[in-house]
Amino acid sequence: MKKIILKSALLPAKASGAVRADILIEGSRFARIGDNLPAGDDAEVVDCSRFAVLPAFYNGHTHAAMTLLRGYADDMPLQKWLQEYIWPFEAKMTAMDVAVGSRLAILEMIKSGTVFFADMYWHREETMKAAEEMGVRASIGVTFAETLMSAEMIEKNFDFLAAHTGESERVRLAVMPHSVYTVGESLFRRCAEFARAEKFLFHTHLSETKREVEDCQKQYGCSPVRLLKRAGALDGNLVAAHCVHFSDDDMKAFVDSGATAVLNPCSNLKLSSGIPPIHAMLAGGMRLALGTDGASSNNNLDMHEEMKLAALLAKVGGTAETLPAFDALRMASVNVARAYGIPDAGEIKEGALADCLLVRLDNERMVPAHDVVSNWVYAADSGCIDSVICNGRFLMRHRHVDGEEDILNEAQACAKRLAGR
Ligand SMILES: [Zn+2]
Repeated sequence: MKKIILKSALLPAKASGAVRADILIEGSRFARIGDNLPAGDDAEVVDCSRFAVLPAFYNGHTHAAMTLLRGYADDMPLQKWLQEYIWPFEAKMTAMDVAVGSRLAILEMIKSGTVFFADMYWHREETMKAAEEMGVRASIGVTFAETLMSAEMIEKNFDFLAAHTGESERVRLAVMPHSVYTVGESLFRRCAEFARAEKFLFHTHLSETKREVEDCQKQYGCSPVRLLKRAGALDGNLVAAHCVHFSDDDMKAFVDSGATAVLNPCSNLKLSSGIPPIHAMLAGGMRLALGTDGASSNNNLDMHEEMKLAALLAKVGGTAETLPAFDALRMASVNVARAYGIPDAGEIKEGALADCLLVRLDNERMVPAHDVVSNWVYAADSGCIDSVICNGRFLMRHRHVDGEEDILNEAQACAKRLAGR
């Protein structure tokens, strides 16, 4: 079994600020954390005296292959943006394009410290394969959208799920009906029942815009959250993206259900969708996690930005004490892992899956070292990350990821062709 010792690393600790320790990784897990751990002959020793070892990021909601649309159309109303730019571009995308876009996304996520992503898109086999090959974890959606799919395609989706096609230790499938405006109540019910019976996570977009909530009220006579409850889809198995326009009743129903809301602050601000009531959500006891959404609306997949922005936006409507740095970091790491059914990931502790970041303490944004977590959340950016470990394996070392030049070149060529430029 492969062994790595992260020697003399600075580890954050809530009570005491930070401690220095050695971390022994055996195989895919943190085996021991302590002082002066013996290396033995078979362990690779990594001097971490210049590094803080911090939890890796887990991205709770994205559309990976949409990296190819980064910067293609910005700063316009949602409907015009979708109908005149995004959808025509996507209509031209083949499975091979999705593979290229997914690799670009995963490269970007690794370089910004993310080792897991939940993905909702098309040609899921390509994204699964890219995640598997590049060494990250993923929850890959089988996407349902009645307004865009035939009945036959919907049945094929259920067959694909039932066979657990292409799943592995790190890459799992999930049931992902797109939203209440593309999937009707009865298909929502069927998806939720199927997900529970077959032990898949259930993920959807929820209450992203004011218009979505108003249209749902008109069509169904209730909020999107209440519609999900009516369809039997609101329970601890649900992970919902956005959750911007939540009433007090929605929040209470969510808390009672044990569902998790994945907030996407950058995307919501850029599309002018609004700011979720984070303070009230936290005060009410809602389970909260973070995601980036796709690169066409973010425009990057950098979880550090979401973490910092969430910590700041929580103070709007709250107080300066709302969502402190330590908790914001948990929203971007362990809370996402738990929501997606990876209970032993997202924290650096003995027995947990060995996912972590080596963050440079000699970067100017990490100096002085009064509080390493404060520096990381409020002062640093993802450029301070030196190395990334997932499942006990280095995915990035000294900011280099294997194959990155090829990934960038193929993405440039692919996007140019799709844009017809
Ligand atoms: Zn989305």
